[in-house]
Amino acid sequence: MSIGTADCHRDIITVDSVSFSYQQRNVISNISFSVKERDFIGLIGTNGAGKTTMLRIIVGLLKPTTGEVRLFGEPISQFKAWNKIGYVPQKNNLNPLFPATVKEVVLSGLVGKRKWFGRHSREDEIKCSDALMAMGVEDLAGKRIGELSGGQQQRVFLARALINNPSLLILDEPTVGIDYETQESFFHMIKHMHQHHNMTFLMVSHDMEMIKGYLGEEPVSSAGKLNFYIRHSHETQDCVEQNLAHSLKHLRAQMESQKEGN
Ligand SMILES: [Zn+2]
Ligand SMILES: [Zn+2]
Repeated sequence: MSIGTADCHRDIITVDSVSFSYQQRNVISNISFSVKERDFIGLIGTNGAGKTTMLRIIVGLLKPTTGEVRLFGEPISQFKAWNKIGYVPQKNNLNPLFPATVKEVVLSGLVGKRKWFGRHSREDEIKCSDALMAMGVEDLAGKRIGELSGGQQQRVFLARALINNPSLLILDEPTVGIDYETQESFFHMIKHMHQHHNMTFLMVSHDMEMIKGYLGEEPVSSAGKLNFYIRHSHETQDCVEQNLAHSLKHLRAQMESQKEGN
């Protein structure tokens, strides 16, 4: 099944007949779909529908029992350009005593430097402060991640995912444990990135309400208990002419203007 709308764009994610079983139980049965460049896919399903498992397979944390995943056209086993993918995991199991600072958490998003502590180059430091600045959390750089509110933590993990300036952003239940107002500003930011920063999104959620306004009332297709919602970032007849060049730094200005608007 191709749920992508724009054939002029390449496949960013291809999921081909993927199944996954855990302790003899089928968590995912024979699912196929593709995500095209500049699509925003909402993967909605109840708890236990296999959403998080699907994401973990796509980011290579789990191996499918059968079937194949390709990222940017390459089989996942050969894929190396992990810097193109930003992943924001579910944040609700974070230990409040976890000793890393905000800055260390964000720096750990640098590909090839998947460690929480250590020395970083000047260039890494600049990338880190750009990402913190874009999310408006630069003042928190020295704080422990566990001390922050849910909304602040979410911004920090988003900054971590953005530090490599990814083409694909994957979000797992981004609104769990976040108050309504923070959710709203978070979505404002995400939508802006989708429209203007040449980013492709895959978001998993059990919560329909927040996504319907942007992705439409009805799923485009279903597979098992998973429903797919989709929106391309612009009219598909305009695909070729799209020329978008907002830098990460632009996000901050965008957020400020939203605050003033409220
Ligand atoms: Zn397009
Ligand atoms: Zn922008």
